[in-house]
Amino acid sequence: MDFWERLLEPFPGESFLESAPCPSCRAASAEELGPLGPQALKRCAACALVYGSPRLSGAAREAMYRQNPGAMDAGLDAMLRRLMTERCGNMRREMFPSAAPAGTPGSGSLFEIGSGWGHFLDVSRPHFAEVAGAELAREQAAHARKAFGLKITESDIFAAPDAPKHDVIAAWELIEHVPDPARVLAWAFANLRSGGQLALSTPNFDSLYRRLLGPHWFYHIPTQHLTYFSPATMKTLLLKLGFAEVRVFTSGRSLMRERANAHNRVTPGLDVRGQWMENLRIRDAIERERDSVSLDRSTLPKRVWHGLVWRLVNPLLTRGFGDQMRVYARKA
Ligand SMILES: [Zn+2]
Repeated sequence: MDFWERLLEPFPGESFLESAPCPSCRAASAEELGPLGPQALKRCAACALVYGSPRLSGAAREAMYRQNPGAMDAGLDAMLRRLMTERCGNMRREMFPSAAPAGTPGSGSLFEIGSGWGHFLDVSRPHFAEVAGAELAREQAAHARKAFGLKITESDIFAAPDAPKHDVIAAWELIEHVPDPARVLAWAFANLRSGGQLALSTPNFDSLYRRLLGPHWFYHIPTQHLTYFSPATMKTLLLKLGFAEVRVFTSGRSLMRERANAHNRVTPGLDVRGQWMENLRIRDAIERERDSVSLDRSTLPKRVWHGLVWRLVNPLLTRGFGDQMRVYARKA
């Protein structure tokens, strides 16, 4: 029995699945956009948010995130440090200017929801007086504490009473994973000080590559991604929650690698349980492959290729229509 069989074992039959109304506005009425692996992609009739249904149940998802096996090594450490340094740089450049700009050495409080292995908080530390995070994955939270001495909670962010105590709340590649994105964004609003900012990133459903690749788009991940925001649906939601201003930037990805995405595959003859199990394993395999590809800068041609595609061609090709959006929302 492998990890995924053990994961679904406590959920007999199809009880590891749940069907969901719109994760943003709860409307049940939706337009069906087509199949996506073992699920269907839908667009909410009321707020236009795109989401997948059915999805893994809350209990199955929590078990997956808490127990997902992973290991830190020197290659992953270097890749995360590079990525998070870039992310921190983007954030400091792109956020709204404020009276005491985030990034003034040693001022303000940064909180990251889904802080992973801890690299973003570690590289951001020189710019804030206080940094802390929340992370469900046990091993990752433990690593962040041990390697970087960070303050990380493993409990639900909703467990503590709301208090406007942070100047910046960051949530990188998180919002598409949570069952109730509106609740998480409302939590961020309630826990930001006046003038504070939310910084997040999430896949962009309006991206050029999504339009070209359809269901084979890299970010279509039935087992993990529950919602697919566009700049418009994200802005609408943030403004509705009370944020005063919202800014969106997008950046691209390499088209070459997207062909490897097999999340839309369903092997004929498998029952529903088999289809989801297959998708979990596909996800696992792609994750490993992606890490090894983005880590590989072993030769000069590979370094040149990465530099050319990531820094030059992609941003030009996908200007305004990149695969990922970075969103900044300011509280008045
Ligand atoms: Zn909706």
